Amino acid sequence: ATPTALLVGTGRGAQLGILIKGPQVLESTRKVDTVVLDKTGTVTTGEMSLVDVVAVDGVDTDDLLRLAGGLENASEHPIARAIAAGARERVGDLPVPAGFANEAGLGVRGTVDGHQVVVGRAALAGDLPTELVAARDTAAAEGRTSVVVSWDGVVRGLLVVSDTVKPTSADAIRQLRSLGLTPVLLTGDNEAVAKAVAAEVGITEVIAEVLPAGKVAEVKRLQAEGRVVAMVGDGVNDAAALAQADLGLAMGTGTDVAIEAADLTLVRGDLRVVADAIRLSRRTLGTIR
Ligand code: ADP
Ligand code: MG
Repeated sequence: ATPTALLVGTGRGAQLGILIKGPQVLESTRKVDTVVLDKTGTVTTGEMSLVDVVAVDGVDTDDLLRLAGGLENASEHPIARAIAAGARERVGDLPVPAGFANEAGLGVRGTVDGHQVVVGRAALAGDLPTELVAARDTAAAEGRTSVVVSWDGVVRGLLVVSDTVKPTSADAIRQLRSLGLTPVLLTGDNEAVAKAVAAEVGITEVIAEVLPAGKVAEVKRLQAEGRVVAMVGDGVNDAAALAQADLGLAMGTGTDVAIEAADLTLVRGDLRVVADAIRLSRRTLGTIR
């Protein structure tokens, strides 16, 4: 490819809202056959809200909100922000945790009002008692994430948060398919939630319940199958996978770590621009060869 044509492609990319790290990136873009998409903040807006609070029998929902909200107030995770904001709205000022630890991809733990509080996946916070199973399953079928709240070693309730699929995501997936690409949804979230979101946007291949470190391994596994992988993500969790992918695309609305690890940045966070980038690279390189 001539440098001039590639530079023209790079300039056209900027007009489309694509920041390209270097002209050589267009070469790898053209060969991609699989597009792996992170769920939260990439396919969805990532702006979550607390929509349901379910306490086990005998536990006061205000206590549940105060302890879980106080703990999550110390975390930057979108789920944490939704829980803290929702709790503050319902119960007012939240207690400040005395200790706090974040377990990436699992949840948070800490001491609040003298209790050892854990909020997160069942693997971290404890298995759900049967009285909460129906609430979790209903939420999951609607594509809503629920997290378990426990304190002093006993599960006390469930908090349901809702995220919204970006209005452009389904069209973006349709465009990727029409270019002959296979979309794959990759997430740390629960399998049922992931499947519901995937169905909403037209993705059939789903890899769920992946710990942050596991996202790289999943990209490597697809590459070992001979697939040429583009990875689209926004989070700190996605950075290593973005670097491992044949082509890494970061959401301009995402974290700096993801943007630094990526080859391309989609300025507006609109997934349809992934298809624009592929078209642009095919056109730019097609005119040179
Ligand atoms: P994603 O891959 O969708 O960006 P993460 O890897 O960040 O998701 O998180 C995976 C799962 O871990 C979440 O769906 C949630 O169940 C749990 N989790 C992570 N952080 C928190 C938190 N601060 N509070 C509660 N749950 C959390
Ligand atoms: Mg994300």
